[in-house]
Amino acid sequence: MAAVKIDSVTVYRQWQPFASGTYTCSGGRSAEGFDSTIVRIAADNGLVGWGEMAPLGSFYDPSFVGGAREGIRLLAPLLIGLDPRAPHVLNEVMDLHLNGHPYAKSALDMACWDLAARAADLPLAEALGGRFSTTVDLYRSVSQAAPEVMAQQAAEYIDHGYRRLQVKVGLDPDDDVERMEAVLAVLPAGTVVYADANAAWQPAQARRFLRSTAHLDYTLEQPCASYANNLAIRAACDRPLVLDESIDGVETLVRAHADHLVDGITIKIARVGGITKARLIRDVAVQLGLQVTVEDTGGAEIDTAAMAHLSVSTPNQSRTHTVDFHNWVTVSHGVADLRCVDGTMTAPDAPGLGVEVDITALGEPLLVVS
Ligand SMILES: [Mg+2]
Repeated sequence: MAAVKIDSVTVYRQWQPFASGTYTCSGGRSAEGFDSTIVRIAADNGLVGWGEMAPLGSFYDPSFVGGAREGIRLLAPLLIGLDPRAPHVLNEVMDLHLNGHPYAKSALDMACWDLAARAADLPLAEALGGRFSTTVDLYRSVSQAAPEVMAQQAAEYIDHGYRRLQVKVGLDPDDDVERMEAVLAVLPAGTVVYADANAAWQPAQARRFLRSTAHLDYTLEQPCASYANNLAIRAACDRPLVLDESIDGVETLVRAHADHLVDGITIKIARVGGITKARLIRDVAVQLGLQVTVEDTGGAEIDTAAMAHLSVSTPNQSRTHTVDFHNWVTVSHGVADLRCVDGTMTAPDAPGLGVEVDITALGEPLLVVS
């Protein structure tokens, strides 16, 4: 096999304002948009791959944009000369030289997958093992606000075709019950609802919410922050429970399964360090018989395409939904067949991620390493 070597890494920034205004989750944490870091990796065979990572502010995961960019500055020189088609080798190098900080590795890993799949002339979903469907279901988050405001927002999302909603809870549990009742009252039958506390409750608050919502149909997402506290409320939860913020790797997943803590998990590509590790966690979760959501912390077309490919390469009976981040923001950085119709999104079938990046949307690079 002819050798292929990475010969340059170029890093860009794109500010991506939210179309729906401020995004708010528990504790008054909020963001106005995604501060995205976009990576272009070029190889000596003439091919290019793109990757993207955007944290949700600095409050959501243990990640922030400055850390991502400094991490890439440290790692990019180490990738020069390596084969972009060898993701396990690249990840070994990145993990050896930067302990932790998986979010800083995510865009680099994603760009190598894009390049490798293009080199094989395969869409990423096929390079990841094959596509089980052409589309993936979408969900939309209903940002925290007064109950009537959230109900109105939910109704608008339904009008836009979404059939799955995630209601942001995690404040005073009695107020959260009102939020849930107000939102569920305006939803058509068959709408799938998640109540996501974003790790904000203490166990007693989670139990109080569960008691008061016994009459409602929903899946509970990440009620408490610590693993121990989520485990402590499991017996009080007679409905599906999924963990998101807690799922940072295979070890936590296997432990949560062994403890009968989870019915499903949410994998954030950036949280776990890129496509290579997201796929591993996804595959283990599928084998363990859990429901799987593959999504990310933010971005536009590049990141959304990665979520779409990972999602459609997840078996249908194991896959829940993902997000169409490119529709959350008011700017674009490329053209991709990410059609959204009736609450579903198509995964591109062009090679790699299937995004034709418009480099003029990205401005001057922050960093060029060659
Ligand atoms: Mg969540």
